[in-house]
Amino acid sequence: MELLLVEDTTRLATAIARGLREEGHVVTIAATGAAALARLARRDIDLAILDLGLPDLDGMEVLARVRADGNPVPILVLTARDALTARVAALDAGADDYLIKPFAFDELLARVRALARRAAAPRWAPLACGRVVIASDDGRVEVAGKAVALSPREHALLVAFLRRRGETLGRPELLREVFGYDFDPGTNVVDVHVAHLRRKLVGGGAAITTVRGQGYRLDEDPDA
Ligand code: CA
Repeated sequence: MELLLVEDTTRLATAIARGLREEGHVVTIAATGAAALARLARRDIDLAILDLGLPDLDGMEVLARVRADGNPVPILVLTARDALTARVAALDAGADDYLIKPFAFDELLARVRALARRAAAPRWAPLACGRVVIASDDGRVEVAGKAVALSPREHALLVAFLRRRGETLGRPELLREVFGYDFDPGTNVVDVHVAHLRRKLVGGGAAITTVRGQGYRLDEDPDA
């Protein structure tokens, strides 16, 4: 994969890049937010690792601009800000996952692998339920023939539901598969994203049902 590492601490950037290259990735380092935005605008990066503490722009600003630009590149945020509010803010701004500094390199590799799997998976087959369709070529989502804009997380959530339609997906499972957590972050992040997604699927002939005490399920529903 072609990775962009946005990190201004040279020693750390060099060490992380070396490890990622040993894993077979092509790694470009950007030391400023401006350099990161310029590189990401070329749309040929498969995954970005973004430090929030940058000398010019705050990493959160970089994140917001990338998403405002409609760029769906998976982004793993690195942060020394351990506060729950900071983590939730990063996820809300469109980060796909985050890692708190200091972290073990193996943990970084595991997160990169998980994000890569999620990003790569839907390309070979169309996913559909009712009149909700994810195009197999570019991942575009249509509900009853109309293009609908989903955030990267809503998109990942929809993919998870479409792959296993008719099955109940539990919160821990969704947290792990869609959000990349192997622990409970203690927020209602799943419920919030499901609620957003549900609203966007109205009229699509498919409905996400709440299964009390268990999780959520997507089924075809002609009335939905
Ligand atoms: Ca930094």
